[in-house]
Amino acid sequence: MKHERVDHLLSRLGYGSRKEIKSFIRQGIITNNHEKVRKSSEKVDPQKILFDNRNLEYPEGLTIILNKPVGYVCSHSVVDSVFELLPAQWEKRRPHLNTVGRLDKETSGLLIITDDGQLTHNIISPKKHVGKVYQVELEKPLNGSEVELFASGTLQLKGENHPCKPAELKIIDDTHCEVTLFEGKYHQVRRMFVTTENHVVSLHRSQIGGLTLSSIEIGKYEIIDIDEITSQIF
Ligand code: URA
Repeated sequence: MKHERVDHLLSRLGYGSRKEIKSFIRQGIITNNHEKVRKSSEKVDPQKILFDNRNLEYPEGLTIILNKPVGYVCSHSVVDSVFELLPAQWEKRRPHLNTVGRLDKETSGLLIITDDGQLTHNIISPKKHVGKVYQVELEKPLNGSEVELFASGTLQLKGENHPCKPAELKIIDDTHCEVTLFEGKYHQVRRMFVTTENHVVSLHRSQIGGLTLSSIEIGKYEIIDIDEITSQIF
């Protein structure tokens, strides 16, 4: 890994301000290759640094899969933010962690959080054609027109400049279905059903490309290796 000033490295990984890192150095709790670090300006290999006898947390980047509960919001610095479900230190990391697209407050399920801008782009860009799969519960029975309408590529939502790209709908029963989108307009699934005079009662994202939540419990997260997530999604 690239060598970096130790104070810069530790502050961007959320261990404290540059001033606090200086004080940790004075306390002797930071080692480089098992030797105490003496100067904030020392250039170090992140893999060789121990902070309080522990390796640094994900110096090469961090990607997380979260099983988002209903009631949490996909923004920073708001009440009931999804970032409250992660360790507080990670909020101070740079590059920042961000959600890959958003799930609305009332939607649960698979949410990817990453500091990797390229990964984010590859997942959300309609050009990459990654399907996002939603389990939908409806207030009223399906009327029979939805499969064709959603697949048509002509469904126009209020206030949008372009119609929805073709989406897939699998019927489970009268009031339950699975919708796969290849783009992410604001509240898209809910608004698509508004055009059929129906109402989404509950919405859960179960899959992104080939990636599922597997056994992650609601409100819990797992860290995933970038190569693994890439191979599962694409
Ligand atoms: N569509 C919605 O309506 N809400 C979401 O959170 C995601 C897709």
